Amino acid sequence: MPVYFLTVFYLKKWALKKIDKIRRAFLWNGTSEANGSKCLVAWDNCKKPKANGGLGVLDLAKFSRALRLRWLWYSWVDPERPWVGSPVPCSENDKQLFRASTMVTVGDGRTAMFWDSTWVNGHAPRDLVPNLYKLAWRKRLKLRDEVDNQTWTRGLWRMSTATEISEFIFLWEVVQGVHFSDVPDLITWKWTANGLYSSKSAYEVQFSGSYCTFNAQAIWKAKTEGKHRFFTWLLVQGKIQTADNLIMKGIQCDPICSLCHQDSETASHLCLHCSFAQQVWSLVRTWTDGLVLVPAQGVNVQEWWNSALQVPDAAKRNRVAAILIYTAWNIWNERNRRIFQGVVQAPQRILGLIKEEMALRQQACELRVNNVVS
Ligand SMILES: [Zn+2]
Repeated sequence: MPVYFLTVFYLKKWALKKIDKIRRAFLWNGTSEANGSKCLVAWDNCKKPKANGGLGVLDLAKFSRALRLRWLWYSWVDPERPWVGSPVPCSENDKQLFRASTMVTVGDGRTAMFWDSTWVNGHAPRDLVPNLYKLAWRKRLKLRDEVDNQTWTRGLWRMSTATEISEFIFLWEVVQGVHFSDVPDLITWKWTANGLYSSKSAYEVQFSGSYCTFNAQAIWKAKTEGKHRFFTWLLVQGKIQTADNLIMKGIQCDPICSLCHQDSETASHLCLHCSFAQQVWSLVRTWTDGLVLVPAQGVNVQEWWNSALQVPDAAKRNRVAAILIYTAWNIWNERNRRIFQGVVQAPQRILGLIKEEMALRQQACELRVNNVVS
């Protein structure tokens, strides 16, 4: 979709929904249609950046908002543009995000708006004294004009509540502290090192409230293939297609673990606590000289993932992450072989497969490096 389109026009809700339906189906089913049971992780979570536990699928609503802030930025930094002065295609929410993202340093007071610009320690008066703002008249005037002429108080005589009066006293004191100079007012973008607007930073900051309970960075940094990382991303969220998840979706299957034939099959049982899995982990511990431990009793998948990766040395941590991923992946594959092909292999053989896969990956990477060098 052309970026300029998103900069100018709002995507209607129905259009966003349609586009997202297609993208969601493509992600989970590889086709243009997918029913709910194919979608293993909520779409909103897929759209979070990878560092916040998502898949980094572009959130079109947030992305177009990030692009629209460009209008507000350029109307300040480049007032010669022909459209400056005409209404810009920005909603109240867009403007609110713009205020939260900028900080204005007062110079001559001729660019900053009295109510809308963030000239009070990075905040705009309209956000600091919202009750007073409702009473004010003519809210689109420049800081300089309002202060020099003392016109900012117009309309405020209608104050009646204690809150409004205390807001007035606060703002009055702020205004007394304003001193103008000869240099133009300066605007700074809070989310970039150089203080300039970037659509990337405007996009990312919209996720800043989202919280991730597992070490997501370690997944995406691990030296494994994409399919392994995707599997692990599902695993740590308990979303791989184990019997408990399938049954919850109304799909009939054997609820008992096909590796030990004793317990119910869940992600944490299958990959961590199953007697078969524990044998594999024990072999891996010996092979890695204790770098990777056998999962402790009772931990869930996220606790296991987070605690196993508490390794201060980054290179070591990446290696641990890769071994955890290849081990869980191969236990999962063994389960699939037993269910779908009726083939059974011993824990020793699983360790062999883990080693083979890791060696193959290493060879492939060395080959790539050599090709680049030669
Ligand atoms: Zn089991």
